[in-house]
Amino acid sequence: ADQENMAFMGSVVTYGKGKSIVTSIGMKTEFGKIAASLQTTKEVKTPLQIKFERLAKQIGIAAVVLILIILISGTLQGTLTFEKMLLFALVLAVATIPSALPVIVTVGLSKGANDLAKKNMLIKKLPAAESLGATTIICSDKTGTITKNQMTITNIFHNDKIIKVSGAGYEPKGDFYINNKQINSKELDLFFRIGYLCNNAKLNKKETGYEILGDPTEGSLIVLGKKGKLEDEKLQKDFSPIEEFPFDSDRKRMSVVYKNNINKKIEAYVKGATDILLNQCDKIRDNGKIRKLTKKDREKILNMNNSFAKKALRVLTLAYKELPNSKTYDKENVEKNLIFVGLVGMIDPARDEVKPAVEQCHKAGIKVMIITGDHAITTKAVAKQVGLFEEGDIVLTGDDVKLMSDLELEKEIEDVRIIARAMPIQKLRIVKALQKKGHIVAMTGDGVNDAPALKKADIGIAMGITGTDVAKEVSKAILTDDNFATIVNAIREGRNIYDKMIKSAKYLLSCNSGEISSVLMAILLNFPLPLLPLQILLLNMLTDTSPALGLGFETPEEGIMKRQPRDPKEKPISKRIFVSIIMLGLIMGLGTLFIFMQYKDINLIKAQTMAFTTLVMFQMFAVMSSRSLLPSLTKLNPFSNKWLLGAVCFSISIQLIVIYFQPFQTIFGTVPLSILDWLKIMGVSSLGFIFMELSKFLMKKNSTKTNVGCI
Ligand code: ATP
Repeated sequence: ADQENMAFMGSVVTYGKGKSIVTSIGMKTEFGKIAASLQTTKEVKTPLQIKFERLAKQIGIAAVVLILIILISGTLQGTLTFEKMLLFALVLAVATIPSALPVIVTVGLSKGANDLAKKNMLIKKLPAAESLGATTIICSDKTGTITKNQMTITNIFHNDKIIKVSGAGYEPKGDFYINNKQINSKELDLFFRIGYLCNNAKLNKKETGYEILGDPTEGSLIVLGKKGKLEDEKLQKDFSPIEEFPFDSDRKRMSVVYKNNINKKIEAYVKGATDILLNQCDKIRDNGKIRKLTKKDREKILNMNNSFAKKALRVLTLAYKELPNSKTYDKENVEKNLIFVGLVGMIDPARDEVKPAVEQCHKAGIKVMIITGDHAITTKAVAKQVGLFEEGDIVLTGDDVKLMSDLELEKEIEDVRIIARAMPIQKLRIVKALQKKGHIVAMTGDGVNDAPALKKADIGIAMGITGTDVAKEVSKAILTDDNFATIVNAIREGRNIYDKMIKSAKYLLSCNSGEISSVLMAILLNFPLPLLPLQILLLNMLTDTSPALGLGFETPEEGIMKRQPRDPKEKPISKRIFVSIIMLGLIMGLGTLFIFMQYKDINLIKAQTMAFTTLVMFQMFAVMSSRSLLPSLTKLNPFSNKWLLGAVCFSISIQLIVIYFQPFQTIFGTVPLSILDWLKIMGVSSLGFIFMELSKFLMKKNSTKTNVGCI
């Protein structure tokens, strides 16, 4: 890190020129070493994967116990010989242990990450896809995330006068007005020059219009200079760059040193946040004359700053000074005893999508906090526009946070809506305080200094456009369009990912419990076996995978963003879901046995075919009802999930082939069924569907909460 004369592979030259020698390539570079270390890093399992694996194990053990009961009681009652019963029990064990559960979680998360990528959120670590859904608070930057980061300077304060600037966007056309009267901008030359030279942005003309390369705040000053008739070529001839101290979010200012080739003087041009830069000024340029900056001047400038900020303008102070000729210049000396020249106020409109996204957050029980480097008044004005702030809400500044102990911060943090003039490093304390309060924090960030907070947050989200590589590296997700509304969409998708996994698991376990209960009850009632081993295996091939995976393609349910965030400690299969799995299993078992009983004494093979088909149809009806956790099936378009529909058609086709295609009849021990048989099967198997819909309705009615866990 201390090698000042080395540029690492992957670095981008954004400014200046130089000669270099390539010292290593490929895997021998620092970049290559990181790539090599990544290849050896093992992918860790997500908390949900672990929870589901544990669940699969517990259910597996329970299934083995039940199967042992079936084996012992079946042998004792003489249902089959011991060898046949053992084979049957083994098949039942293989078929009923929900081995597909972990696969469903992995596929569900990967599919979710894929969907999120299409919606501008890149998920770097799979758990983030699902944890996003549990977010209880979003800590967001303002500039570029809540706002468009398209700056246009509209107001200037110079020589004690407010000057309005006309023009829109980055097109360098506009005029200057005082009290609606156009003025000659010649007297603003130095003001324009400071903004233009203390700058790294470029204005490009494209076929579609003008665009800024670099920081839009700086870009707006280039546009202003062009409106003020500054010319690149002339400036390059008249001013030679000597030194630059770039902008950073801690100092909140930037300065450059130039040689003025006209008067041969060395000049420093500085711009930055008013409340900070004004402390570095002790003189003022007043109508061309330089005089001491009085207390009254300071008050006036700060009042003007606040009045610009109240209009949601982002305000910058421009200052300069002459420097002695020297070989080197240091930041501290360059940026003190400055001469105040004026203020610029720029509008940065709020993104249109943010207001509805904020409304969604309110309904979904998700808090939003803005943590910004900008001024409190500007931030309040912007926050009000998007519905994030009401009079009386708590606003803190970085200085307030600095003065608070961790305990004090923890006490107040939940009610804070804005933290303005924040230092990036303070974000870490904020995340910690919120987490102590039990929050699941989604935090945005772009700078290197944001990295610790991004890493600590439950979901660190780096900005894709303005974010540094460091921020992207430590984050779990990357926001490719830097847009706040995308975060809210991603939370919606995250909730859906969790829902889909619960739906698949609930469905899968209900099917397994139906198979076990029908066999168990038959043995306890001393009936012949209603299903043959191969039929059980096929049942699971049909039900375990394809329809359960088809559920992974469901779109978010209507009320998904009206629920409170889920408790991250919540078990994927809540008590209520467990009861409903057992109940549905019993209904499937009873229904299958009911059908089986009608035929068992007349024709056992037909009875078994009927039982087999009844269970398949029970499962097909169950998967259709599993599409929603809330009783909204009437609102769901039955054709909207084509994957699920395909999976159901596939399963039914296989069942038809097994029943009606002679070679399979011999293998699976089936006989063809008549229309009347089918009518009976449909009548009985639809009971499971009716039960599921009814139970969802009753639980919703009796439930005060609307969380997934209580359904
Ligand atoms: P956010 O933290 O929400 O992205 P921000 O862009 O205002 O907001 P910073 O980039 O830390 O946060 O900027 C803080 C302040 O520094 C701004 O309010 C502005 O006054 C000043 N500032 C911003 N950009 C520059 C720049 N390029 N040069 C000089 N001063 C700047």
